[in-house]
Amino acid sequence: MGIWEELISLAVEGYNAGSLGISAAIADQEGNILAKGRNQLSDNLESCNQIKMTSVAHAEINALHNLVPERQRDQELVLYTTVEPCPMCLGAVAMSQIRKIVVGSADPYAGSIRLLKKDPYLTKKGISTVFEQGRIEEVCFALHYMSLKRYVRPGHVIFDQIKERYPAYTKKLDKLFESAELPLDKPLDGLHLMKVLEQD
Ligand SMILES: [Zn+2]
Repeated sequence: MGIWEELISLAVEGYNAGSLGISAAIADQEGNILAKGRNQLSDNLESCNQIKMTSVAHAEINALHNLVPERQRDQELVLYTTVEPCPMCLGAVAMSQIRKIVVGSADPYAGSIRLLKKDPYLTKKGISTVFEQGRIEEVCFALHYMSLKRYVRPGHVIFDQIKERYPAYTKKLDKLFESAELPLDKPLDGLHLMKVLEQD
């Protein structure tokens, strides 16, 4: 299974468990996964995580926590995350030896990649970033958007910012929610999600 397939499946697990559908992995240069984590803010399910049910139970924090000590000092590690890291997670990544972040979908509200260029301490770390596009971006965004729809009150400013950043994706997903092809009140099947997103 590829990194993104694993991450999407882990994010779906988080979504179905009642947390946010966000996951992260730390890989070596060859793309071998060394550690994984998912958002576990709101569920106590047995998963790959140790950090659960607290405000720091974010995907990237859990992935970093799951990285074995022997690999903590590697210089060449890469973080993959389905959603752009928040300031806490970006800070935690900067304190590790990860020097490349690959982002599935942008988060115009809490995402903090811009700090890498604005904060002198973070700039010195020399962390490079890549934002995915196309199918991976759309699936990662869908999982994030569906989570927010359940988690955040309607009318919150996050929805305006997300709509502005991803107008086509939000329009398509809103239609799918309305048509009940992608009901927000039922467990999500990752394959079904990818299938409905393929329709235009
Ligand atoms: Zn975070």
